Amino acid sequence: MATDLQIATRRVVSFNPATGELLRELDCPSDAEVHAAVAVARLAQPTWNELGVERRIRVLREFQKLLHRDKAEVARLITREAGKPYVEALLTEVLVVLDATRFLIDNAFEFLRETPVEHGSFAMKTKRGRILREAHGVIGIISPWNYPLSIPAVDTLAALVTGNAVVLKPSEFTSLVSLKLQSLLRQAGVPEAIFAVVVGDGSTGAALLQAEIDKLVFTGSVPTGKRIAQTAAVRLLPVVLELGGKDPMLVLDDADIDVASSAAVWGAFVNAGQACLSVERCYVHRSQYESFLAACLDKTKKLRVGNGLEPEIDIGPMIHERQLRIVESQVNEAVAQGARLLTGGSPLPKLGANFYAPTILADVTQDMRIMREETFGPVLSVTPFDSDDEAVRLANDSEFGLAASVWTRNTRRGEAVARRVVAGTVMVNDTISCFGISEAPHGGVKASGMGRSHGRFGLEEMVRVKYLDTDRMPGMKKVWWYGYGERFSGAMEAFVDLQFSRSLGQWTRGALKSLGVVKSRKL
Ligand code: NAD
Repeated sequence: MATDLQIATRRVVSFNPATGELLRELDCPSDAEVHAAVAVARLAQPTWNELGVERRIRVLREFQKLLHRDKAEVARLITREAGKPYVEALLTEVLVVLDATRFLIDNAFEFLRETPVEHGSFAMKTKRGRILREAHGVIGIISPWNYPLSIPAVDTLAALVTGNAVVLKPSEFTSLVSLKLQSLLRQAGVPEAIFAVVVGDGSTGAALLQAEIDKLVFTGSVPTGKRIAQTAAVRLLPVVLELGGKDPMLVLDDADIDVASSAAVWGAFVNAGQACLSVERCYVHRSQYESFLAACLDKTKKLRVGNGLEPEIDIGPMIHERQLRIVESQVNEAVAQGARLLTGGSPLPKLGANFYAPTILADVTQDMRIMREETFGPVLSVTPFDSDDEAVRLANDSEFGLAASVWTRNTRRGEAVARRVVAGTVMVNDTISCFGISEAPHGGVKASGMGRSHGRFGLEEMVRVKYLDTDRMPGMKKVWWYGYGERFSGAMEAFVDLQFSRSLGQWTRGALKSLGVVKSRKL
């Protein structure tokens, strides 16, 4: 009882990271309430599923209309709660969700249609096989703060359209954006029981993981992902893990340095460097190294840091001071170990507690912490290389494998290098925008996680595959239903020959002999 009381008083507080303004304080549900939300969703899910995909698509259409109507309000809320510049909130969150909804509206019906399975085996020709895609039931979603709308919304919409109910545990830093998503979905016609937001911190997430969900889609850090995978393993709960990244950018000797340097600066500093897909390790061919650094420095000096609600601002604050201190220590350590600081390298306390100057480090070596651990802040770390082979080796020398980019004027060469990089996505001559391609699967290899979100592969995660098979000759007993013996074995050998022998004689003998076995059946 005492524990219940303690848990019931848990709260999360939402702040504006640019100003420190308290936006709202919210009570968190107790563990029992989280379990109850899942139980209610479980009870309601069959009705939602039976509604059919066309009706659910109609609900998504309505959601798309409402989100489009409220785009500016939603983007401003994202900026106030997560700090990113308004235009980034509009493009990398609202637009991404509108387009993901478009993808689901266009594709969900076809996706859920049963797929015939042709039987290649001669022995199985009398059967009709189909693949059914069925909803799991209740999908738990646990999401991070850095893309507080696009990450939970894309997963939620894919889960809902395929007939699942969803219980979402958003990041404790961005509860308000999730509550806005909930409000829009309800207005669009999603029943209360079918989509519930349970606000809270890690312990609320842990409660959701323990509840009777059928699958968990988790996006967040590697350490939390590993803890979740361990707990899920105990009950064999299927999980999708979208974890951290340390994305390399490979600038080959024939790259357009003006284009590549702009991409590096944007790719490293967008969302104040707090993107799983940020450019974190920039490898540049030695022949272009100094001119690339000079271009990056010049472009970085023009960037304006401040409150993302002001239209001229390029880089907003980091999410909280703890995150800033981690980045600060990575940068300081790299400089102490010999990295060259070209610009930045310090907090900007005059702007507020969470601002950090966009930073460029040159001559960073592979063994430095800043090249091995995820750097969730506005830092561009640059290193030279001498050959494509070395660039690929450096790119693959990481525990992460989320995404990568290759920069060259020769796209064939770029694609050849891209095929050698171990990652979930490799872009040639662009970075990060893969997240905005609704058809493209998003996800990583190695410590960057397992499973996929977005596109058709994201939809596949939301369904169970069932194989349905119907015999076309129900009145006929199967020849292999006993009757074993020497004659039967011989006939079966002949039957194997019938299918796989390349000699006409053996094939004909096989056909005649295997036909005879039908008569010898005992059962
Ligand atoms: P985090 O791991 O600290 O938290 C993520 C979510 O998990 C939050 O909602 C948090 O409350 C919850 N959580 C924490 N402990 C938990 C526990 N024991 N059980 C259940 N839930 C728990 O990550 P973060 O700081 O919110 O997000 C940043 C990380 O997310 C970075 O590593 C980033 O790379 C990663 N990320 C990955 C992707 C991707 O698509 N691969 C996208 C965005 C962010």
